[in-house]
Amino acid sequence: MQNTLASAIDSWVADHTNEILQLTETLIRFPSVNRAPYGDEAEAQIFVAETMRALNLDVDTFVPTDVPALAAHPAYWQGRDYTNRPNVVGTRQGVSPSAGKSLLFSSHVDVVAGNSGGRFDPFMPVREDEKLYGRGSNDMKGGLAATLMAVRCLRELGVRLNGNLIVESVVDEENGGSNGTLAARLRGHNADGCIVPEPNAMIVSPGHKGGRIWEIRLKGSPGIAFGSDHIVSPIYGMARLAVALEEWEAIRNRVTPPHPLFAETPGLPLLITKIKAGEFEPGAGDAVPERAMMELWAEEYPGTTEQEHYARLIGFLEQVARETPAVAQCEIEIVPITRFLPGSEIPRDHRFVQTVGTVFSQTLGAPPIVRGAPFACDVFVFNQIANIPCVILGPRGGNAHSYDEWVMIEDLVALTKIFARTACEWCGVAA
Ligand SMILES: [Zn+2]
Repeated sequence: MQNTLASAIDSWVADHTNEILQLTETLIRFPSVNRAPYGDEAEAQIFVAETMRALNLDVDTFVPTDVPALAAHPAYWQGRDYTNRPNVVGTRQGVSPSAGKSLLFSSHVDVVAGNSGGRFDPFMPVREDEKLYGRGSNDMKGGLAATLMAVRCLRELGVRLNGNLIVESVVDEENGGSNGTLAARLRGHNADGCIVPEPNAMIVSPGHKGGRIWEIRLKGSPGIAFGSDHIVSPIYGMARLAVALEEWEAIRNRVTPPHPLFAETPGLPLLITKIKAGEFEPGAGDAVPERAMMELWAEEYPGTTEQEHYARLIGFLEQVARETPAVAQCEIEIVPITRFLPGSEIPRDHRFVQTVGTVFSQTLGAPPIVRGAPFACDVFVFNQIANIPCVILGPRGGNAHSYDEWVMIEDLVALTKIFARTACEWCGVAA
């Protein structure tokens, strides 16, 4: 890329720093919460579509189930309600598509309900020092804003790209949805490379972990020991399972060789996210409850199949259930709450990874860290289903999925530059 164009992009972005943040803040104010099977993305998506129209993009708005091929696709996850939950895809047609490659920026607009507490109202963004706080600031409305501003930058600088540039905002990523991302691919919005600005702390990720949410349900014999009733507490059984899972996580991490993309950051977390039994309301439930439930999230490296994940985790739980009397006395049910989200990867030396890495170096003056993203996300849809090489590159931040989520302000500025420059490099600039 010409140095003059690179510096024009950098100065435009520097001059529009406040607008990048304002756009992120506007997006945060829409409580686009994923309440699986439902979701409140509509208002945010109407705003995103308006923003794209103002950028003169060809805008396609559709709910996932508008796409006829979706329900029949093997990766479709059933049970979600897509009423009033539109995807929005904006395309800037290239002037000479045969002379350049196409690029897609893909973000999800939904956020989690998240933990309560903290200092700030999750939907009232606050800037403080170098951070911007708000639900979704990090995951991933900051990244979405950076992609939209990168497109605006190229438009205002009058840059004509050879290949198509596509920017999308999809619904239903949280809670293992993925149908929104899948529907956009089946609708035909595809490209020669994709950047997903999920918050991986400014590393270039040619791959990511996978995982699945499971729920364990135990049913015992409830009551209180007045007479000769036989009481079986599902709480003791659940407690044994929790301890067994803690040990299993530690052993598994000792014996599993780290995947090469995670050599410096090995580890497969198993997180118990919910545990519940009995009633705490005054006057209620002063007896052993009938049921206890636990929800957990178990991660996998790229390459692990759904069958392998099942055999390892569920096989272990079934063994504990057989061998532990407190569990064996209960009825046990283990059910998946989400689809299996596979980890996925593309080669580190893939041309697209190299392009993003080179632009990163040129923009920030230092080479990027290239390694796997330590979370599950929709990127497998690009790498494994749509055959679109995908790189994750998003901001630093913290408290994603919790209170006082924040994003590093300078990263949103840096990403806007990198995204605009990558579009020039990958799609080609027309003379
Ligand atoms: Zn996310």
